[in-house]
Amino acid sequence: MIDATDRIPFNRPHLTGFEFAALAEAAANGHLSGNGAFAQRCAAWLTEEIGGAAGFIVPSCTAALEMAMLLADIGPGDEVIMPSFTFVSCANAVALRGGVPVFVDIEPHTLNLCPDAVEAAMTERTRAVIVVHYAGIGADVDRLDALCRRRGVMLIEDAAHAVRAWRHGRPLGSFGAVSTFSFHETKNVQCGEGGALIVNDPALIDRAHVLQEKGTNRRRFLDGQVDKYTWVDVGSSFLMSDISAAFLWSQMQQAEQITRRRLAVWEHYQERFADLEAEGLLQRPVVPDGCEHNAHLYALRLADRAARDRFIADLAGANVQSVFHYVPLHDSPAGLRLGRAGGPLDVTVKEAARLARLPVWVDMTHSHVERVVRAVHQAVAAPRLHQPVLT
Ligand SMILES: *Cc1c(COP(=O)(O)O)cnc(C)c1O
Repeated sequence: MIDATDRIPFNRPHLTGFEFAALAEAAANGHLSGNGAFAQRCAAWLTEEIGGAAGFIVPSCTAALEMAMLLADIGPGDEVIMPSFTFVSCANAVALRGGVPVFVDIEPHTLNLCPDAVEAAMTERTRAVIVVHYAGIGADVDRLDALCRRRGVMLIEDAAHAVRAWRHGRPLGSFGAVSTFSFHETKNVQCGEGGALIVNDPALIDRAHVLQEKGTNRRRFLDGQVDKYTWVDVGSSFLMSDISAAFLWSQMQQAEQITRRRLAVWEHYQERFADLEAEGLLQRPVVPDGCEHNAHLYALRLADRAARDRFIADLAGANVQSVFHYVPLHDSPAGLRLGRAGGPLDVTVKEAARLARLPVWVDMTHSHVERVVRAVHQAVAAPRLHQPVLT
């Protein structure tokens, strides 16, 4: 337990209490390799949540993004448009195929990919678009989907943040040809390291099975469709051990409760910072109409980088850990070498510099949350921070 003065970490992985029984069951099953009984249950659960055509439980969201790039047939010189404000795995997946990540700007209110910026960045080499649902708040997938269909470009959703989140009643992860999920310990539903690929376009299912099984048709062999299996395509070991899957399954069973408890923390922050926003001292997250989010993260915006850095230092002084993510990719050393900017990135540069994320985890008590609230009030009330937030 964390007492009244201990440091409140940014994240603390939640245990549902059902993990150990599931691990024992997996061990007793005697099938600990990939696509075992638990991995199959996890795949069925997520596929049903999303309404996908097929689901694949894989070692990480990073691995799922690599599968997505293989399914999109990305090769040397092909361009994939993505936000600069995203996790590095999106860009790596493209660069590993010899493709070029093309970084575009985000919308200031949601920090999600800007459809106009995507359209402006499209060239005859554009093969795919990766959209991220930052904080589990849905990006404008309707416009992106229409745009991608018009141009014959594959839409891929990086839904790493977005288990149990909806846009106009439709699950995030159901809009792209494929979507990727993360079960890293920092995500809402977790097993330490883990991920999933949801395939929504049925035409891609067979190849996804082959990619997952090291480029072999082992799946067709297991289904009795061929009498031996052989190497038919490129691929890798995109499989999760059933030990991890057993842990993950017990978390999936509790996904609704996990989300509800995270939302309680998120909503408490939102309510207690309304006065600070009214005074122009900070900006709270914005959830557009029609978006049902999952409290994956709570990000505040301060006046500028200097104010943000002081804010994080002041919170650290009050034993509260606050972090910022993402550092934009377009001007990172690898981003400059392997990718290119697909237009102005002013919103990305401005917003990434002034963003701070607060602790949100399932087992936070009311007193933890109130300690964070007090630390935030004290940090922004310090006289040196009394400068209105620019809009
Ligand atoms: C966490 C995350 C990933 C990577 O997930 P792993 O499972 O750790 O590989 C990819 N994209 C986004 C947006 C993420 O937040």
